[in-house]
Amino acid sequence: MTILLLADHDNASLSDQTAKALTAAAKIAKDQASDIHILVAGKGAKPAAEQAAKLAGVSKVLLAESDELANNLAEPLADLIVSLSASYDTILSAATSVGKNVLPRVAALLDVAQVSEIIEVISSDTFKRPIYAGNAIQTVQATDAKKVITVRTASFSPAGGDGPVASIESVPGATGPHRSHFVAEEVAAMDRPDLTSAEIIISGGRALGSAEKFREVILPLADKLGAAVGASRAAVDAGYAPNDWQVGQTGKVVAPQLYIACGISGAIQHLAGMKDSKVIVAINKDEEAPIFQVADYGLVADLFEALPELQENL
Ligand code: FAD
Repeated sequence: MTILLLADHDNASLSDQTAKALTAAAKIAKDQASDIHILVAGKGAKPAAEQAAKLAGVSKVLLAESDELANNLAEPLADLIVSLSASYDTILSAATSVGKNVLPRVAALLDVAQVSEIIEVISSDTFKRPIYAGNAIQTVQATDAKKVITVRTASFSPAGGDGPVASIESVPGATGPHRSHFVAEEVAAMDRPDLTSAEIIISGGRALGSAEKFREVILPLADKLGAAVGASRAAVDAGYAPNDWQVGQTGKVVAPQLYIACGISGAIQHLAGMKDSKVIVAINKDEEAPIFQVADYGLVADLFEALPELQENL
């Protein structure tokens, strides 16, 4: 049987989340000697399909294009996947906002149980996934004939992008009518790396005290390190940082090479989003702060003194 991986892309380019989810797909494929097809659904998405075709281990790329598919809406995307599903026994996607929007709908339409946010593939039907905000790891066996799976990409390295080029086959886009319509999209323009794929993240917490201080203390250091900027939920809720910078259980799950937590206490909900980072540095003036329990390097200091000093010495 064959595996279908839903690509994460913006039509012009493929996100590296797809290459990471492909590594999980390849582990499932290895267990049951399956082919892997990637579905690129969008409008004007040929460039993304061409990138997908070069990923190692992909045997075919399906390219579906229509006006309805242009903006990753769940209804047409789910209908498209369901229309293709007869040929696949495993359907998966990175657990991005698109994947988390579309795949539960696919699972419901197929009347199967979704296995969400896997972090390890044990066999083609058995997976590990975090529960209780990452405090316990559950091993689940999916017994449905068709498996619908989202992949926590922080746990998988990206598949190579230099495989033999797979064929690209056009498939018909979804047919409507659907009840949701695309109205507008506001994309925050950023010249810093994307939080979910950054090598280095510097995050600020409630201790920053204001949006002005957050910008004044965290951003210059991020620029100097070429880092993405993250924040605790307390900092986001207080308006110090925008919502899409939030790291944690209800924010983004990240696993950079280096995570620097500044003035963040280390609540379990924050740890759930960053504890798989390769090296964790914590700067906190309270030596009892729980963040020090997961930190590889801890500095008990006032961040308003330590960060400018660090920046000066870099
Ligand atoms: P605090 O806990 O107030 O910690 C501030 C820290 O800064 C303290 O440790 C203090 O010692 C230190 N400090 C103060 N001044 C200084 C200084 N000058 N220099 C150095 N250190 C200083 N939180 C998330 O982050 N992400 C989530 O996704 C998330 N999801 C949640 C989901 C649910 C259902 C719930 C209930 C909560 C969630 N939370 C989440 C909130 C979480 O429980 C914490 O409230 C939050 O993470 C605290 O943020 P903080 O560490 O910035 O603030």
